[in-house]
Amino acid sequence: MGLAVSAGPATCYRSRHRVPPRSAPSHASALKTPPDEPPGDRPRIIDAPDLARRVRSENAERVISRLARNGHEAYLVGGCVRDLLVGRRPKDFDVATSATPRQVRRLFPRNSHIIGRRFRLVHVRYGAESIIETATFRREPQPREGDDEDLLIVEDNVFGTAAEDARRRDFTVNGLFLDPNAERIIDFVGGLEDLDARLLRTIGPPRVRMQEDPVRILRAIKFATRLDFHIEDETWNAMCDTAPELERSAPPRVLEEILRLMRSGTALGSFRKLRRCGALQAILPELDSYLGPLDHPSEAERDRSEEFRRLLEALDNDVHGGYEPTTPVCLALLYHGIVERDVAERGVGDSMTELARLTGEHVDALCERARLSRRHSGRTRRILVQQDTFLRGSSRHFRPRLFCLGEDFPEALELFRLRAAALGRGWDIYEGWAERYREARAMPPEEVEAERRKGRRRGGRRERRRRRRGG
Ligand code: ATP
Ligand code: MG
Repeated sequence: MGLAVSAGPATCYRSRHRVPPRSAPSHASALKTPPDEPPGDRPRIIDAPDLARRVRSENAERVISRLARNGHEAYLVGGCVRDLLVGRRPKDFDVATSATPRQVRRLFPRNSHIIGRRFRLVHVRYGAESIIETATFRREPQPREGDDEDLLIVEDNVFGTAAEDARRRDFTVNGLFLDPNAERIIDFVGGLEDLDARLLRTIGPPRVRMQEDPVRILRAIKFATRLDFHIEDETWNAMCDTAPELERSAPPRVLEEILRLMRSGTALGSFRKLRRCGALQAILPELDSYLGPLDHPSEAERDRSEEFRRLLEALDNDVHGGYEPTTPVCLALLYHGIVERDVAERGVGDSMTELARLTGEHVDALCERARLSRRHSGRTRRILVQQDTFLRGSSRHFRPRLFCLGEDFPEALELFRLRAAALGRGWDIYEGWAERYREARAMPPEEVEAERRKGRRRGGRRERRRRRRGG
């Protein structure tokens, strides 16, 4: 990481659970322990002037400086510190502080507001684009009263110290503080060591931490594949044991993490891990059983897994090229194999209505559970049904250019492109449609209207004929 260790390491306490430090103190420490912190909460502190200079967020620095000038502790925290340390560009900069949300609000009266209920924090806004999320140090929430067994966290608003705040975070590499003014990193959880070893490890006992919030299983997979870190064995075992409990997590959060994995550029590695630890079975049981068991799958299941593998590979390739799949495309990718199988098994044949109904059965159930809008489920359904249209020989009444101008066409074509790239079949058909799409978009409005009228006339004639026949 290229960081000069100038002070510390001292003690490296990793959790409220009193796990012994992994590294012994090596030399005299320059530690600052806030007076109200219990002894033993001493962090490892290292000088990191280069890193502090790489913080490209004047706004985050402004927030931290103003808080510090007013007597509060304030640091950069979480993903941005981790990313700076591994040489990645942080997505955004989050601040953690000893100031309460109201105190923060008072210091930024014109450009801040408090958000959230389960987790209250302050958004400090600079211009239209930049928001610095500023959260008060929290401590680990206590289990609900009278419910010693149930560790699931439902609320997270109990304020605490910096050390407590570090320890209630999920993984050691996500629990580091960076003080850009003093140019140093403060590590209460052993995150620096794990970053060096490229290890993803929970803060505190993995089983407890996973049970508190099983979505951490999905987060572990996200970080490990994104950073190419190894998941520490105990953490991995706890993920495998706790995976069935993902069924209890809020479906919208789960879906959000699935979508993140699909957009990460490492979807293939992520889904492999999801399957191996049993999380896929808990979060997308239809897909898991469609792919079959990992050990001794049938030949059909092996073929399906291979096809799915290639699809994710094609997706990752495109994401590396800058493509960002929409939610409906991601969902359609997950479900199109299942729909195709059902179509074949139930003999739906050419009936579009039946196909739409079948597709709806799968997609609507998922969208309802995850509280996705009807717009999203409708779009997912339609782009799945439209896959068939790309392959059909055009009937007399079919107006390809009008089809191209349909609202869902671009997403339907994206899915078709991914499938063609994955299966190595149909790329010429994809190119044909991409060309027609370009032509359709270049059509002047009068021509579009004329095409629509033709379509309507044909439809009208067909309808009259049907009525005459008494249909
Ligand atoms: P990304 O680059 O994907 O945004 P991140 O580490 O910033 O990664 P966030 O989801 O933005 O992840 O969360 C910010 C920080 O909040 C994390 O780094 C972690 O310290 C803490 N955190 C987030 N979710 C949890 C959780 N479920 N349990 C404990 N700590 C969490
Ligand atoms: Mg983040």
